[in-house]
Amino acid sequence: MRVGLGYDLHPLIEGRPLVLGGVTVPYPRGLRGHSDADVLTHALIDAMFGAAALGTIGAHFPEGDPRFAGVSSLLLLDEARRLVEDAGYRVVNVDAVIIAQEPRLQPYLGPMARTLAARLGLEVACVGVKATSPEGLGALGRAEGIAAQAVVLLESRSGDDLGPFRAPEAGHAARRGRPPGTPEVGT
Ligand code: MG
Repeated sequence: MRVGLGYDLHPLIEGRPLVLGGVTVPYPRGLRGHSDADVLTHALIDAMFGAAALGTIGAHFPEGDPRFAGVSSLLLLDEARRLVEDAGYRVVNVDAVIIAQEPRLQPYLGPMARTLAARLGLEVACVGVKATSPEGLGALGRAEGIAAQAVVLLESRSGDDLGPFRAPEAGHAARRGRPPGTPEVGT
């Protein structure tokens, strides 16, 4: 099993739809970004890549790449799922929190969880989506943007948690409880 953490933050601006977890939330402003700026889905993708040691969302889907201009982040999630599965892992469960002063997100959390679960091929019970208020503090508290955090648990389909990333020497050292690169002494 491997755990990953993702965090993302986007500014709120006029003239954009507000998309969170693939769900469009009625609100006069939306998040600024190259894609649809779905901060929740981005945090989830980064957690998946982190858990699988596949790098970052920015490395896979670079800002400014015309292929991703205005694209639904659910399509990026589909690609992230494919990459994680190709690396030998399966998503077990997700937990996420959106940090937003406004709008009130409670009515949309269930649809977000169902949307993300469907995209990941999971039961909805395996995807948690919560929202919390920054209590008026800082830029988020002034509703200048929305942030999200996500954690993801991956299961190795081979039972080997280092999977394809196991370097022979590093794996050998890790099994003996020594940091990789530490010279072996005795048996
Ligand atoms: Mg982002």
